[in-house]
Amino acid sequence: MERENVWKSYDEAAIQELNRVNEGYKAFITTAKTERKCVRETIRLAEKAGYRDLDQVIEKGETLKTGDCVYAQIMGKAIALFKIGARPLTEGMNILGAHIDSPRIDIKQNPLYEDAEMAFLDTHYYGGIKKYQWVTLPLAIHGVIVKKDGTVVDVEIGEKEDDPVVGITDLLPHLAADQMGKKASAIIEGEDLNILVGSQPLKGEEKDAVKAQILTFLKDTYDVEEEDFLSAELEVVPAGKARDYGFDRSMVMGYGQDDRVCAYTSLAALLETGDLQYTGVCLLVDKEEIGSVGATGMASHFFENVVAELLDRLGIYSGLNVRRALKNSRMLSSDVSAAFDPIYPAVMEKKNAAYFGKGLTFNKFTGSRGKSGSNDANPEYMAKIRRIMDENHVAFQTAELGKVDQGGGGTIAYLSAKYGMQVIDSGVPVLSMHAPWEICSKADIFEAKKGYEAFLREA
Ligand code: MN
Ligand code: MN
Repeated sequence: MERENVWKSYDEAAIQELNRVNEGYKAFITTAKTERKCVRETIRLAEKAGYRDLDQVIEKGETLKTGDCVYAQIMGKAIALFKIGARPLTEGMNILGAHIDSPRIDIKQNPLYEDAEMAFLDTHYYGGIKKYQWVTLPLAIHGVIVKKDGTVVDVEIGEKEDDPVVGITDLLPHLAADQMGKKASAIIEGEDLNILVGSQPLKGEEKDAVKAQILTFLKDTYDVEEEDFLSAELEVVPAGKARDYGFDRSMVMGYGQDDRVCAYTSLAALLETGDLQYTGVCLLVDKEEIGSVGATGMASHFFENVVAELLDRLGIYSGLNVRRALKNSRMLSSDVSAAFDPIYPAVMEKKNAAYFGKGLTFNKFTGSRGKSGSNDANPEYMAKIRRIMDENHVAFQTAELGKVDQGGGGTIAYLSAKYGMQVIDSGVPVLSMHAPWEICSKADIFEAKKGYEAFLREA
């Protein structure tokens, strides 16, 4: 049951292809640091590959046929891409699913305040973070401010070489005796994740002059007022690019690899694949980190509705056909696995852990405390997946998230499984998951992309 390190099997051509995939990936996660930007970048890449907006197809009253490629998005935060296969849609689709939201720090609706002649933005973090990891880092702000007249103003501060960055301060060790005695979960309190954004008073201003200076900046730069924060969605993320990691450049360090590493490799697999028997799908959803809720999360009817529209464009819409198309589908629900970290072996069970360099990871089940919350994939389906991976020379491994009763986690798998389709959790192992900078192995990223393509062609 031991699996070889896949690096040993690569020839020169494989290394070249591995590097090509990883350069594309690094560029993607450097640009796409929010779910909105993921959708935007996905549309850009998809249109370059000949995909059309399904809404426009509908609007023009056009029909679809085998070989056509379309995408549909919702609220700019979730997207589904389809490459129509030769077989009828009612025979099911081969679906690659992943989530594009990542843990981060969101700006509150009434955020701006001044204290001790310093200006701060108050925040509410998003997803499961170790709060102490997010202080004293260069941070960037990405998002939108929507004005009352409907104008959407794009905000991005902290990414360009000459941009300023922002951040969260921490106490000096000299005065931290009390703080250091606290539990790690309380060292930095959620309400204390305040972003320092200014310290220069506006001349001629009596009260809150530093805050006034920040408001002047916002007015000059974005033409927005303080009240416009009420209808803003601003996300604070680590500033800077994804980079090669290690002397040997065998890894990628970047923000938001959970789960954009699976999102990008799924997308690249679909965009680069040739003609398909079964309709190929890449489904990238929002809100997984907070329970897949909301209109843009996997629990919404977004995907089902789009499948209905698709059947309509194919001229075979009926309520029953929607159910058949979904029920007969096969899905790889992709999300990152916890990579085995030899510094923390105690939380892992070595035979059933994911390792760097051993390829695409399949989790028959996830969940916690007796598999609670898990989609436990059928062994018949797992057998088929093994066959596809082996026949296509894709390195894969199987794992679960840590030791029994050590913790655990869920994914979007159980939500698509509701339709009765075949679903299994798969993905790329990551070190320092949910930290500001996460690490993946370039070999696993490459094998994931290969595995997804094989799945689209053969499942
Ligand atoms: Mn995830
Ligand atoms: Mn996560």
